[in-house]
Amino acid sequence: MALFERDHHIYRDRDALREDYQPDELVGRDEELQTFQAALQPVINGEQPNNVFIYGKTGVGKTAATRYLLSHLREDASRYDDLNLSVVFLNCDGLTSSYQISTQLVNALRPETEQISTTGYPLASVYEMLWDDLDARSGTILIVLDEIDHVQDDSILYQLPRARANGNLDRAKVGLIGISNDFSFRDDLSPKVKSSLCEQEIHFPAYNATNLRAILEQRAQVAFHEDVLSSEVIPLCAAYGARDAGDARQSIDLLMKAGDLARDRGTEFVTEEHVKHGRRALERGRIKEGIMGLTEHGHLVLYALLTLDLEDETPIRSRDVRPRYTRFAEMANRDPLVPRRMRDHLSELAMLGIISVTERNEGRRGGTYREYALDMDVNLILSAMDDTVELVGVHESLSEYIDVDEFVADSDDSDMEFSPGSLSTDL
Ligand code: ADP
Ligand code: MG
Repeated sequence: MALFERDHHIYRDRDALREDYQPDELVGRDEELQTFQAALQPVINGEQPNNVFIYGKTGVGKTAATRYLLSHLREDASRYDDLNLSVVFLNCDGLTSSYQISTQLVNALRPETEQISTTGYPLASVYEMLWDDLDARSGTILIVLDEIDHVQDDSILYQLPRARANGNLDRAKVGLIGISNDFSFRDDLSPKVKSSLCEQEIHFPAYNATNLRAILEQRAQVAFHEDVLSSEVIPLCAAYGARDAGDARQSIDLLMKAGDLARDRGTEFVTEEHVKHGRRALERGRIKEGIMGLTEHGHLVLYALLTLDLEDETPIRSRDVRPRYTRFAEMANRDPLVPRRMRDHLSELAMLGIISVTERNEGRRGGTYREYALDMDVNLILSAMDDTVELVGVHESLSEYIDVDEFVADSDDSDMEFSPGSLSTDL
């Protein structure tokens, strides 16, 4: 008997739910697409293109809309013999400087055999190469910088749109399309960059539940077999998505998670229960990632609050968390932070939704103070900070959650300084 067998009960094409899938049609973005299309019209007319700036939160279709329109533009431009259109698409995630962006652009414009090294040139020489390479192409060149908010210095965002005006380009007509997930990015640009980069601005608003439903229905038709989704599945995914952030990516991920659960359990249909379960699993994943991304002191503060919570000491004031935190920091051989900094960590944990904060009134004196409590599953928190638990030791309040012997055995760090019994008793 085969160990692996194909299962095709649930999915027709699961890949259609993945990040890299490009839908043939976009639903519910007519207005934005129309504005965007109008902004690209000069390209077809053989005129100097507009610079376009697209902004909106993650998952609202900015990249999908750009790819969709540019693929149509390329196809339609090919019908005009006198149009020579090139499109360079660059995602700036991981590229933080104008230097990195411009070397990437030079290499995108050059054949395999003439690539340049991404270090070692003065920025001015890279720009010289870029202008030469752009002019060598002549025609119209659209440069898309996706997730442009990763770029820290704005030199390239000034140079590119103004290359022609500054006499750096003669033949090439260059248009820049900048896409940002971050609203404040635009406001933080210097006025001269803003005026050239943001010639045409298009805002993509968050999706509401109706939008998300339409998007999910379209995608489900490709991804799932007919009639495997119970009727409540898509409305529920859409409702959660609208409540969270209006992010289509997140809703599609949830639909996939629900589908995977149904498939793994070998059931015939995807149900509401799979969606709810899937949502919890995704949520846990996000929280876990959030905790893992905290600093060591963030973990020590959280560990202190966690143990106090298990001892029923919460809600608790920052000053009452402090002795436990200080103690844990010392056990971990770290200098405790000053009270103010420790409080900053509590605020950060609250912002991430891991702990909760309540404002209280001081009574007649009129002041207010804050109380903190744990807002998250103990096991989930522990699973995201086992390094800290190792460093400090297992607190006695955790005895039901952690089997001390197993914890030591499970650890991949075998020579740690950790002696179970002694540490837990004197905390
Ligand atoms: P952004 O670039 O704004 O972060 P994306 O364009 O990557 O968002 O969209 C996130 C996901 O949602 C992608 O899988 C995309 O195909 C899908 N999507 C977004 N908007 C639509 C839409 N209007 N119609 C169909 N699919 C969409
Ligand atoms: Mg994007």
